[in-house]
Amino acid sequence: MLLEGKKVLIMGIRNKWSIAWGAAQSAYENGATVIFTHNSMESAEKVEALIKEIPGAKSYPCDAGSDESIRNCLETIKAEYGKIDGILHSIAHANTEDLRNDFILTSRDGYAHACDISAYSLVATARIARELDMLNEGASFVAFTYYGSEKVMEGYNVMGVAKAALEASIRYLSKDLGKDGYRVNGISAGPIKTLSAKGIKDFGTILDVVEQRAPLHKNVTTKQVGDVTSFLFSDMSSAVTGEIIHADNGFNVTGI
Ligand code: NAP
Repeated sequence: MLLEGKKVLIMGIRNKWSIAWGAAQSAYENGATVIFTHNSMESAEKVEALIKEIPGAKSYPCDAGSDESIRNCLETIKAEYGKIDGILHSIAHANTEDLRNDFILTSRDGYAHACDISAYSLVATARIARELDMLNEGASFVAFTYYGSEKVMEGYNVMGVAKAALEASIRYLSKDLGKDGYRVNGISAGPIKTLSAKGIKDFGTILDVVEQRAPLHKNVTTKQVGDVTSFLFSDMSSAVTGEIIHADNGFNVTGI
């Protein structure tokens, strides 16, 4: 199996609709040991119940907005599991008003918050994991991004800026992590109805347009994005780093 003997950490699970859950299912089916982190106490109970579907899986609290929380979480995981082989960053947040109002009205705090949680947290996670010496040779980081980083998407606003920062961070991190033989890549997923997506104005219209115009004329599933994640965790992608792979049924290549 593709991920036999590998241990992967899935950061950012909320419920069964989370893209992270599709990634976890794919990793598990491909033979990996799967470990989770969740954010709020509010989500802890639901996450614990959900991950029972994966025998032996555990979830650890981690606030991506705090280096201390990331460090405590990764230290605990290293103590319990030893070195790991992959980390998925499936985390994003912006203030609701910054997704509802015109982009020009984004506050300084709102701009910083979106970039901090959605982009900087990947840099902090990679740095702390490396400092803790908790990565096996050839370890692979994956982060989820969206086309709103490349083109103006109605209602995506400051999250588009944060995703652009995330994608640039992936390229810069690839150079630093590459010195230790670690890889880092992004997956630009097509739109999927999740709790986070509910915050985006007219999200249903985006799904309809993708279905009409994407070369494959349908929307992607969390499992399909998860399968691309498994590929990036696996040794099959050992020459791929600093890359953003679109898993969007081809929507990004369409013009008029
Ligand atoms: P989701 O299920 O709501 O997942 C988002 C996760 O981010 C939640 O688990 C949330 O935890 C976590 N999070 C937010 N603030 C955090 C913090 N301070 N510390 C730690 N975790 C925090 O939604 P999703 O759509 O699957 O999103 C996963 C990733 O895919 C995001 O990066 C998103 O931008 C990206 N993506 C989504 C789509 C889409 O259409 N859905 C498309 C492309 C890319 P809590 O809810 O517990 O706070």
